[in-house]
Amino acid sequence: MKKLLSIVVPCYNEEESIPVYYDAMVKEMTEMNYIDFEIIFINDGSKDKTLPIIRDLAKKDKRIRYISFSRNFGKEAAILAGLRASKGDFVTTMDVDLQDPPSLLPDMYKGIVEEGYDCVATKSTSRHGYSFIRKIFTSLFYKIIGSISKIEMVAGARDYRLMTRQMVDAILSMTEYNRYSKGIFSFVGFDTKWIEYENQERVAGTTKWNFWKLFKYAVDGIVGFSTAPLIFASFIGILFCFIAFIMIIFIIIRTIIWSDPVAGWPSLVCIIFFVGGINLFCTGIIGEYLAKTYLETKKRPVYIIKETESKKRV
Ligand code: UDP
Ligand code: MG
Repeated sequence: MKKLLSIVVPCYNEEESIPVYYDAMVKEMTEMNYIDFEIIFINDGSKDKTLPIIRDLAKKDKRIRYISFSRNFGKEAAILAGLRASKGDFVTTMDVDLQDPPSLLPDMYKGIVEEGYDCVATKSTSRHGYSFIRKIFTSLFYKIIGSISKIEMVAGARDYRLMTRQMVDAILSMTEYNRYSKGIFSFVGFDTKWIEYENQERVAGTTKWNFWKLFKYAVDGIVGFSTAPLIFASFIGILFCFIAFIMIIFIIIRTIIWSDPVAGWPSLVCIIFFVGGINLFCTGIIGEYLAKTYLETKKRPVYIIKETESKKRV
C-alpha cells in the first residue's frame, strides 16, 4: 500500500498564490506517484478570498482539506493546527507562495526513505529578495541565539521540511503556548539532513512580515529557548555594584587627601541616567519572561477553529 504524505500549508491573505500553488503541487505529486498525498490549507483569518478559494478546491478535490481559524493567530499556530490534523506517514510544512519549491520534495523524500534520516529540512543560501536591514538583523539574530541558547538554530533555515510521523508526534507532545517552531524542531532532536537552495521570489502577493513583527518574532525565539538574558541582568547588577564600590573607595581617599571641593554635577546626572536606563532594561528582560510565564499559565488555546472541510457552519 502506498504511504500518505500530508502537506501543511499556512495561508494568510493568499488569494493570488493558492491557485498557482495548487497547480504546481498537483503537477509535482503526479510525478511522485509512488506516494499518496493530502494538502491541508490553514486559513489563518485571511481578509481576502482565501477561504472561498480553498473551500472550492476541497469540494473539487478530495485530497484537499482545510482548517479555517476564527481570526489571525499567526503562522506558528497555523502550523500546529496542520500538524495536529495531518494523517500522513510523512508530513511536510511549506509556504504557499512557492518560495519553498515543490521540486525539492522527491529529494527530501529520498533522504528519509533511502538515507534513513528522520527529517529533511531546507535552508536558503542567499537572502536575495529581502531588504538590506532585514538581512543585517537576521544574521545578528542568529549570532545572538547561537551563542546564548543550547538549542542549535541554523542560519537561513526555512520552515520547509519533511518529517516522519514519529518526529511530528514528538513535536505535538510539546505543549507550550508560545510556539517558536525553529526552536521546537531543533529541541526534539532526530537526525536531520539539510538541503540548500537559492532563495526564490514570491509568486504573488506580498510578504506578511514587517520589521516590528520580525523583531517580536526574534524576541520570542530568544525568550523561548534561552534564559541567558536573565543571567545577563544579574551580571550587569553585580558589575555595577563592583564599580560603585571602587568609586566609594576612590572618593573616600580623595576626600581624606584633598578635602571635598563640591564638583561633578554633570557626571552625576550622566551616571543617574545611565544606571536608570540599565535598571529599566533589566526589568524589561525580567518582564518579558514573566509575561511569557503569565501566558503559559493561562493555558489559552493556541488557535480557534471556525470551519474545516468536514465541519461547516450551520
Ligand atoms: N502566514 C500565516 N499567518 C500569518 C503570516 C503568514 O499563515 O500571520 C503564512 C503565509 O500565508 C505564507 C507563510 O506563512 O504561506 C510565510 O509568510 P510570508 O511568505 O509572508 O513570509 P516570508 O516568506 O516573507 O518569510
Ligand atoms: Mg514567503
